[in-house]
Amino acid sequence: MTEGFATRAIHAGQEFDPTTGAVVPPIYQTSTFVQDGIGGLRGGYEYGRSANPTRDSLQTLLASLEGGQKAYSFSSGLAAEDALLRAVLTPGDHVVLGNDVYGGTYRLINRVHGAWGVRNTPVDLANLDAVREALGIQRTRILWIETPSNPLMKISDIAALAALGHEAGALVVVDNTFASPALQQPLSLGADVVVHSTTKYLGGHSDVIGGALVMRDAELAEKVGFLQFAAGAISAPLDAWLTVRGIKTLAVRMQRHSENAQAIAEHLLEHPAVEAVYYPGLPSHPGHELAARQMSGFGGMLSLALAGGADAAQHLAESTHVFQLAESLGGVESLIGYPSEMTHASVKGTPLAVPENVVRLSVGIEEVGDLIADLDQALAGR
Ligand SMILES: *Cc1c(COP(=O)(O)O)cnc(C)c1O
Repeated sequence: MTEGFATRAIHAGQEFDPTTGAVVPPIYQTSTFVQDGIGGLRGGYEYGRSANPTRDSLQTLLASLEGGQKAYSFSSGLAAEDALLRAVLTPGDHVVLGNDVYGGTYRLINRVHGAWGVRNTPVDLANLDAVREALGIQRTRILWIETPSNPLMKISDIAALAALGHEAGALVVVDNTFASPALQQPLSLGADVVVHSTTKYLGGHSDVIGGALVMRDAELAEKVGFLQFAAGAISAPLDAWLTVRGIKTLAVRMQRHSENAQAIAEHLLEHPAVEAVYYPGLPSHPGHELAARQMSGFGGMLSLALAGGADAAQHLAESTHVFQLAESLGGVESLIGYPSEMTHASVKGTPLAVPENVVRLSVGIEEVGDLIADLDQALAGR
């Protein structure tokens, strides 16, 4: 019998230390392992790039939470993505991706892999006809989905897109960073691979950079495992341990992130300085029904458009006290960002540009009354 999510978040891959009984598996801060005679490995461990017990404990945990065959963890989200792209693509291959995917993902596919002859077509994932047409381009190997997307929280239909991708013979990849497996499990909706920046909700405490891939299929997992070993962008033992430590509270954190974000979204909706609130938990959000179907909560990310334009947005971003002005997201502390000059500066002036009156909030798990009061004083101080 499979245990529930919150139980697995605490116990999967976390057996106590057999030598001392330590409840928390130790950080195996070592580069190599002594052999009992040549080739006499203890537990299969040989050298820290090929495997380390702390990294294994994180990988076992992630595979369990996403319902995959196997997971591999990396030194960053982009290192994980790069390993996947190299495991799947050869020069001349084609990738179809959402036109609002994480900017670093687009840069990696377009500029790094583009230099090796990989082609790409960004599409609006809500337009299934456009997706079908792009998938028809020769040698399409990957359909890359990100939902909810950044910063306007667009929701894409994973099951419908996975069916289209598979019809075209493509591997269906979902970047599940914004929802986390506590709220959305793409493999159960038909995806083949889940990508994470574990830097965000999985780590959850803004103290570690990391990434992961979770595979449904053992054959692809083997290729990814080979690249993790052969190219070496592994997660370090301490980083893996910190990520495991964060994940133990993922279920309760996501619940509180979602509650706080919902309350803030509803409050801001009524505020005269606010023109629009982008949060999938609001019935007025275009992706609300779909999100309610494919997610088990609406998450902690929301954006708002200010009635007073770019000036008002910048003023808000620089006037909060509890919300700190910083890139990144998904930690216990609330962060505020101004996408058009920060996370989305690289798409300024393109069709993907974020409106200049938009501010993004990563709603933390502080007292919601303090968060609302902070936003109110920052919105009023003009
Ligand atoms: C941050 C992020 C990434 C990149 O992860 P890093 O850990 O910064 O390399 C990829 N996708 C999404 C959705 C992200 O938010």
